[in-house]
Amino acid sequence: MEEEKARRATLAELPYQREVAAALARALASGRLAHAYLFAGPRGVGKEAVAYALGAAALCPEKPLEGCGVCNTCRRVFADVHPDFRRYEAPALHFDIDRVREILAEAGRTPSESPRKVLLVMEPEKMTYRSDAPANALLKTLEEPPGRAVFVLVSHDPRQLLPTIVSRCVNVHFPRLTAEDLAEALVRDRGVPAAEAADVARKADGTLEGAAAALDEEQLERLEAALGMMEELAAGGVAEALGAAQVTRGREEALALVAAWADLTHELAAVHGGAVDTLRLEALEGRVRALAESGRLVTPEQAWEALARAAAALRDNSNVALTLEELFLGMTV
Ligand SMILES: [Zn+2]
Repeated sequence: MEEEKARRATLAELPYQREVAAALARALASGRLAHAYLFAGPRGVGKEAVAYALGAAALCPEKPLEGCGVCNTCRRVFADVHPDFRRYEAPALHFDIDRVREILAEAGRTPSESPRKVLLVMEPEKMTYRSDAPANALLKTLEEPPGRAVFVLVSHDPRQLLPTIVSRCVNVHFPRLTAEDLAEALVRDRGVPAAEAADVARKADGTLEGAAAALDEEQLERLEAALGMMEELAAGGVAEALGAAQVTRGREEALALVAAWADLTHELAAVHGGAVDTLRLEALEGRVRALAESGRLVTPEQAWEALARAAAALRDNSNVALTLEELFLGMTV
């Protein structure tokens, strides 16, 4: 779930920020397409996704000012390859005047194939880094916009914008996402089981990024717990490992443990294969390496077989404790 790129959809289809999208859709339906929008809100709440939806609505020939989502135009907007939909971000820490002039020149050109041109400018607050000249150049264009250009400014921190720029735009405020929306996004975009997604979403800060970070943290914790059990096993303690596994009584938890062990086995295989730089668990690298060198565990191939058998059995309603015991015995030599 990379920053706001989770999904491209039309205003009607967007999976989050539905109220914002609906308000924009209503304005468009009554023929009100502005020359400049300012999408403002915290990072990771879907602003960019809504900007693409607005772009599709502005350019789609099938459902004008709505967007069909499936025609050649909409699909090219979503894929970022439509000549009349341009996305600009600061090349480094700031937009310099040359870059801004490039954007403004593009705004003045005739659209290639559509009735208008949409210019998406990410983080325009980066136009006031050393001087206000880039921001002033943009302001001048916003004051007298070329007839067929639509600007969409996407700002994570609008307080840094020139007030005159803010007042030239239709301001659209993006609130933080609800836990329900975040949970849905985790299920849809990251394949997280629903119960876990709901849990993680509650710990997030209302942003997709926060949810991704909370998910990573949760997964790291789970991997660390699974690693601890595997260390017990390698030390010869099947009983100890089973004791630790007693905390995972439920079938869902046991399946999550099997998944965590499969991830760990992937790391162990990377160590076996000498591909150390592929290790994802940097924080746990020393422990994973010691485990790989202990000689107490079966090969990764055999481990995967045992894990697959255990997962199948658990899904097939087997006894959870017995299945884990069998798995633990199957993991050691
Ligand atoms: Zn379309």
